[in-house]
Amino acid sequence: MFPEGSRSAVTLWRSAADFLSSAAQGLCGVVRRWAGRREPWLSPLVYHSADQNDRRVRATTPKARAGEPASTVGIMPMRGSSRPAATQSSRLPVPSFPQAHLSNGLVVALLSAVLVAIPSAAWSAGDGTLQLHFMDVGQGDGAILIAPDGETILFDDGVRGECDRPLSYLRQLGIDHIDYHIASHYHADHIGCATEVVQAFPLRHEAFDRGGNYSSKTFTEYVEAVGDHRQTATDHTEIVLDTASTTPVVVDIVALNGNGVPTTNENDLSLVALIHFNGFTAEMGGDLSGIRTDNYEDIETSVAPKVGPIDVYKVHHHGSRYSSNPTWLTVTHPQVAVLSMGDDNRYGHPTIECLARLHQVVRRVYWTEKGAGVPPDSAYDVVGGTIIVHVRPGTHKFTVTCSANAVEDTFTVGAGVEHVVLGGNETQERMPSTAIAIHHYYIESASQVIAEPRRDNRNRK
Ligand SMILES: [Zn+2]
Repeated sequence: MFPEGSRSAVTLWRSAADFLSSAAQGLCGVVRRWAGRREPWLSPLVYHSADQNDRRVRATTPKARAGEPASTVGIMPMRGSSRPAATQSSRLPVPSFPQAHLSNGLVVALLSAVLVAIPSAAWSAGDGTLQLHFMDVGQGDGAILIAPDGETILFDDGVRGECDRPLSYLRQLGIDHIDYHIASHYHADHIGCATEVVQAFPLRHEAFDRGGNYSSKTFTEYVEAVGDHRQTATDHTEIVLDTASTTPVVVDIVALNGNGVPTTNENDLSLVALIHFNGFTAEMGGDLSGIRTDNYEDIETSVAPKVGPIDVYKVHHHGSRYSSNPTWLTVTHPQVAVLSMGDDNRYGHPTIECLARLHQVVRRVYWTEKGAGVPPDSAYDVVGGTIIVHVRPGTHKFTVTCSANAVEDTFTVGAGVEHVVLGGNETQERMPSTAIAIHHYYIESASQVIAEPRRDNRNRK
């Protein structure tokens, strides 16, 4: 709707969206009370009331003390069931709004107008689809998953000193708490807003992380913010949302702490989580490294077989040249990549090396901002602010929309995956054609990759 890079226009749009969102929520409350029950045409506006008593999570048990690895895997009732909040309905509070002065017809007319005017980002919890919002938090990561019945997982929470961004977006979504927090690693561009976010949106259940310690003020504040919710993940930790549904959302943590590769680099230690829903898979791996240097180890290559084909890839390390190696992309072969980074970042993200490799494989790369590296290529790249993925159960489709423009792309879940039976076990493999091209690119450019100045090789982002 607005030209890329038109920040003032985008800001104006966001302000308008905030205003309309507030108005819509008020109207939503009026209509909800007027309707008295949920109607299909109101489904995007009415929050599901999940059966909280049936919530279970398969996770590490017994609970590991923070900083220590847990060893066994099992099924247990939610730890949070002992918390008062965990037994409450997930229905959100209805905003107060003077309803007596509006006729039903006027409400419907106004509501329809607002619905047309507001981007899909403004609608939120429990709309029957899986929602994955890659928030535009600047030079860092912060993404919120909203399950079809309304439970939420926050994957990283934004950049220290820029917490208004995730806070305002989460408010705009209309959520009032976070069910789970997953920290990819301990850099300030990933857990920089833990205090602010947990204060504004109380955490109901676990805050999973890689355990251990890290010497920084941000880390100390994160530990204080999540308190006794903190739990060390293992590579068998599994969180299940919507357990009563025939299509639950399953989040598997498949790797962390270098996946067996000796390293102390905080990026290398990133936790890798897979989101599974009705055949759809997304991967969230923080700032995982994929090319060995003096500072980094190649972790991606050993993690790739644990991941397999995916639909959506949160590009590791904001498009660093040391992320997204050819083996990783060949094995995971994502359809869609999401680059989360900020304008004018001092790391030169996204890099031409990473982008060139991504373009060999993915159909689209969605950027939260323009960054400060290679410019977007309109054949592949969309700069869109917050990037929103919707997976609609039963359709085998997912859509990608953006907060800052009118793009709406539709993809088929699992497209390009070949089902292969090997030794009686079904596995999935992507078409190999582009993988060969990537390999060639890698060989030709390898010396260039190593020789170039390491603009993004500072162990802080
Ligand atoms: Zn980072």
